[in-house]
Amino acid sequence: MIKIYDTMTRSLRDFVPLNEGQVNMYVCGPTVYNYIHIGNARSVVAFDTIRRYFEYRGYKVNYISNFTDVDDKIIKGAAEAGMDTKSFSDKFIAAFMEDVKALDVKPATKNPRVIDYMDEIISFVKALVDNGFAYESDGDVYFRVAKSHNYAKLANKTLADLEVGASGRVDGEGDIKENPLDFALWKSAKPGEVSWQSPWGQGRPGWHIECSVMATEILGDTIDIHGGGADLEFPHHTNEIAQSEAKTGKTFANYWMHNGFVNVDNEKMSKSLGNFVTVHDMLKSVDGQVLRFFLATQQYRKPVNFTEKAVHDAEVNLKYLKNTYTLPVQEEADTTDLAKFVADFEVAMDDDFNSANGITVLFDMAKWINSGHYTQEVKATFAKLLEIFGIVFKEEVLDADIEALIEERQAARANRDFAKADAIRDQLATQGIKLLDTKDGVRWTRD
Ligand SMILES: [Zn+2]
Repeated sequence: MIKIYDTMTRSLRDFVPLNEGQVNMYVCGPTVYNYIHIGNARSVVAFDTIRRYFEYRGYKVNYISNFTDVDDKIIKGAAEAGMDTKSFSDKFIAAFMEDVKALDVKPATKNPRVIDYMDEIISFVKALVDNGFAYESDGDVYFRVAKSHNYAKLANKTLADLEVGASGRVDGEGDIKENPLDFALWKSAKPGEVSWQSPWGQGRPGWHIECSVMATEILGDTIDIHGGGADLEFPHHTNEIAQSEAKTGKTFANYWMHNGFVNVDNEKMSKSLGNFVTVHDMLKSVDGQVLRFFLATQQYRKPVNFTEKAVHDAEVNLKYLKNTYTLPVQEEADTTDLAKFVADFEVAMDDDFNSANGITVLFDMAKWINSGHYTQEVKATFAKLLEIFGIVFKEEVLDADIEALIEERQAARANRDFAKADAIRDQLATQGIKLLDTKDGVRWTRD
């Protein structure tokens, strides 16, 4: 049974999905105004690993992660770059896709964009105005926080705590909002800004509303898991819950998962400290698989400390796993311990996806393999476990092996065994070998 640490209840809970055998999860994606940094990458990698483990356990996973492509930072960045906001965010969506591909992250089931959900966002906001949870003020629409049930429970706060914190704040919005804690669902457009027509005039959505709309539109009113970085607990996820539950009257997400921060040389990463590292730059000197492996060395909720030495250690350790994986397999060997390694691995990962302990089991298993326990079955199992961390080793296919398979295929064709011939062609295709039947015989190329 997989156990998840749920931020809402602050406890480890058995995972029980809404629909048997299926996981519907939504993970907050990046605001696309810049290259992603190592902290963003950690979130992407952590939830990709969680998704892969669910799949390994036999679940079908609907994995949704959004792009925030309407935002103040995008409007500002696009203006500075002399671009329209759409082309500007397109550029950073493409960069994101390239970065996460290098980290061996599986493509999401869907990456919704705010601009494609504008009608749905407007009708969601309208429903909240209609049921009294939101109000229009001078072209903006605000959520009425005081009406919300258990507001900020996710962040372990009460409305009273927050009001104390907000009382001394001068936010200049005192005349516009009923309560300084009320947050914008819709913002009226300033001249020259990208905007959409709404019942409240030209404007654009606030940040929080988009995730509520896209998650419920795609996955339904209640989802299994909502995830993101720990920095999103308040206000982003808190506000997502308030809006969604005010509209549907149902629980928005059954489990809330938050990944920990990345520190750089034991310090919090920030632009002002000058230790802000983008993945785009990092990939120029570090292999994506090494970077991903380094991130998996800590359980996803714990902080991870990025240092040159830690990355170097990850590189050495990954190489050991790779060297083990590529060992020649034995015809026969004692493999009675295989089941024990698999069981230990599952115990580690079932415990809130403890990748640190999972990787320890993989090293014990590698040591065992190296002492002469490597059959085809062990290799296949080892590959399956490594894949959960995005570690997929492409094997070198030798020319002689290819020639032998081509000959075998020719023989099959001569025997009119076309099924076998096709199977061989497909097998070669998965190894990146393309066959060309020419009048001078079969030619082949590598992709
Ligand atoms: Zn979000």
